[in-house]
Amino acid sequence: MSVIHGNWCVEDIRKVIQSLDEKTGLNGASVPIYLYKSLGKGNTLGSYCPGSGKDKWWRSFSFSLAYFNDDNFRDLAAIDVIRHEYAHFVVDELDLKDVFEDNEDHGIAWKTVCGLLDTDQDGYYRWWRFRSTTEEGLCKAIMSEDIPSVDIIKQLERWGNDLPSLRTRKYYEKELVKKYSRVRVFSANDRVNHSKFGQGLVLDTMPDINKQRLLVKFDSGEIRFVQNRQVYKVVNGHVKKPVSKAR
Ligand SMILES: [Zn+2]
Repeated sequence: MSVIHGNWCVEDIRKVIQSLDEKTGLNGASVPIYLYKSLGKGNTLGSYCPGSGKDKWWRSFSFSLAYFNDDNFRDLAAIDVIRHEYAHFVVDELDLKDVFEDNEDHGIAWKTVCGLLDTDQDGYYRWWRFRSTTEEGLCKAIMSEDIPSVDIIKQLERWGNDLPSLRTRKYYEKELVKKYSRVRVFSANDRVNHSKFGQGLVLDTMPDINKQRLLVKFDSGEIRFVQNRQVYKVVNGHVKKPVSKAR
């Protein structure tokens, strides 16, 4: 696919939604997509109409051709708008407003999903945030290759509903590496050693201010949360402790 630049059709949009579905395991691609000459007072880019109650038949995505057919409307902005509306769909599909006890359309439930989809967490379009992209960059964004897989239910079970956004998590992680060195900051699938529980495999990580919470499956079969300060990495069977510079 080449650069689209103001020539979006329903099938292009559905392709983006399909690739988001692959990350979330949901079926947003089954929701009808409509393109209108303009939406709202003319300055609305897209909208998502939720189903009422259990009646999901009325759900739809709408997008404005005033933007999606404008040569100056950047492709990455279009994709961000699609992700924005898709995040509304996820909130609707999983009843996340109830889960988060927040009825705002652009509240914590929606922002959490945006964080997982690496999407601008603002209800308003800020054109200057979006750069033009190469064909390769566009393909990646269309295929959602910049998004790690999203398992929101698992995330909620593991970490509760005060998930920081993806951007905040990246920031925390960078700060942790500065503070502890790379040896003490962990990722999923790292082997670790705990003085009391022995060795295990990191299933998931959640960075926080000055610490990292780890979900570890120990070789005993026990799954528990530990902090990064309590374990060391195991590489090729060897426990890696950072070398102390003070001697
Ligand atoms: Zn919105």
